[in-house]
Amino acid sequence: MEPLLGGKLATGLPKEAHELFTKADPSFSPAAWGLRWLWNQSEVTCVLSGTNTIAQIEENIDAVRNARSLTETELTVYAEVIAIFNKAYKIHCTGCNYCMPCSKGINIPGCFAACNTSYAQNFITGMQQFLTSSAMMGKKPGSPRLCIECGKCESHCPQHLPIRKALKQAAGRFEPLPIRLGLSIARHFL
Ligand code: SF4
Ligand code: SF4
Repeated sequence: MEPLLGGKLATGLPKEAHELFTKADPSFSPAAWGLRWLWNQSEVTCVLSGTNTIAQIEENIDAVRNARSLTETELTVYAEVIAIFNKAYKIHCTGCNYCMPCSKGINIPGCFAACNTSYAQNFITGMQQFLTSSAMMGKKPGSPRLCIECGKCESHCPQHLPIRKALKQAAGRFEPLPIRLGLSIARHFL
């Protein structure tokens, strides 16, 4: 389920990772590279891939038809791509929303997307995303600090993410004391 991380492995790869795949074999798209890796795993018997268009279905079918064991060279390419991807995307949330809603009003995927942006792009862009997605300037901010650790969200996450721990990381990144004070003053005047 979610074999391409909600599309991130198909269209959201960091540029350097995309280039590595293309250089190794331009006949395979990043989506095909992702699916081929799964079919190379002996424990995988079924891949449930979500698609939006007929073209994507056809691309998946082509990738199945051309499936074969991966070569040592290809496995090296995957290792390099994984290293680049992990550096850019620290929290492997697909944005599927299965963990929502949270009883404390926390926008869980929004917090994680902002966190990833702050590493993959830059802190300011990530912070802007966080302020918007968590409504931090509104009357009811959905701060990750509100988490009461009930664990409901984690039982629904198909990626088995440690959501409570990751929310603490997000709070640490976006809401250290000086920023919290600044936000509270800004809210007062707004
Ligand atoms: S563990 Fe935290 S984030 Fe998850 S549902 Fe409970 S309060 Fe919300
Ligand atoms: S935390 Fe898990 S369930 Fe929630 S959006 Fe991300 S991947 Fe989906």
